[in-house]
Amino acid sequence: MKEPYKDGEDLKKAITKKVKKLGAAMVGFASIDRWEQYQETQPRFYPQYGFPFTRTVIVLGVPVQIPVLDTTPSVVYSELYNTTNRLLDEMAYRLTVFIEKRGHRTVFFPRDAYGDISVLVQKPEAAFSHVLAGKYAGLGTIGSNHTLLTKQYGPRVRLVSVLTDAEIAPDEVQEKDLCTHCGLCQKCCPTSAFTVIKGNPIAYMDKYKCARYHKTLREEFRYPCGVCIKVCPVGKDRKLYGTNTQKYLNEIKVLKENPNAPEYADWNHFRNFGSKNNL
Ligand code: SF4
Ligand code: SF4
Repeated sequence: MKEPYKDGEDLKKAITKKVKKLGAAMVGFASIDRWEQYQETQPRFYPQYGFPFTRTVIVLGVPVQIPVLDTTPSVVYSELYNTTNRLLDEMAYRLTVFIEKRGHRTVFFPRDAYGDISVLVQKPEAAFSHVLAGKYAGLGTIGSNHTLLTKQYGPRVRLVSVLTDAEIAPDEVQEKDLCTHCGLCQKCCPTSAFTVIKGNPIAYMDKYKCARYHKTLREEFRYPCGVCIKVCPVGKDRKLYGTNTQKYLNEIKVLKENPNAPEYADWNHFRNFGSKNNL
């Protein structure tokens, strides 16, 4: 009988040390059987479908800071988003080479993988889901807003996945749902893309609506939206930055009535420079 996780703890420890050094705030390990066990996506989206040698998926995460996210849609949030993406892809590339040098076939799936937002308007899906990978790697649970909710940063974490033939002991999947089902993500979505379906913990999401809105934001240099991760109360990062639920809930209505409302002057300041506002 084949010995499970033959690469043992040493490789796992070495990878964990390496990714922390590279700047990852979180790392988790998923064995490929988790995709078959949970069956939450079609087999063609399993990691072993596109890269059949895969035995373990390593998921890395970096946080998005609330005060910048609060200004969305703005160029400052757009730049933060781009920075996290660059960092994730670079970390994943470096980790891929690190594991490959130890004799394992390894690749990474980039944090985003589409040529242009116009592609998502036609077909709003990716070849691989980092959110599912993050769940199977024990980093968090999936919220009503379709994102990965983590204890530390709620949904304010960006992810990338490294796929390897090394058989590494997986981390435990978090079973306790972190989503409080408060409905804030649905209420604050500027496109009303979510519909709560009774009995389903995850809301239905009109991904086409969301993608069309993102196309406009991209043209205005203040992409992406991110409101459904901005308003979520889950995450220890709230302790550091606090929360103002009422400000989130009233934002659309108040700014519609008065675009210069003084209570939003701080966020509006960043929206008034460096990007267009054609909405
Ligand atoms: S905002 Fe509320 S309902 Fe939405 S994901 Fe967060 S906790 Fe869940
Ligand atoms: S990203 Fe924005 S538009 Fe898309 S679902 Fe979230 S809140 Fe709605």
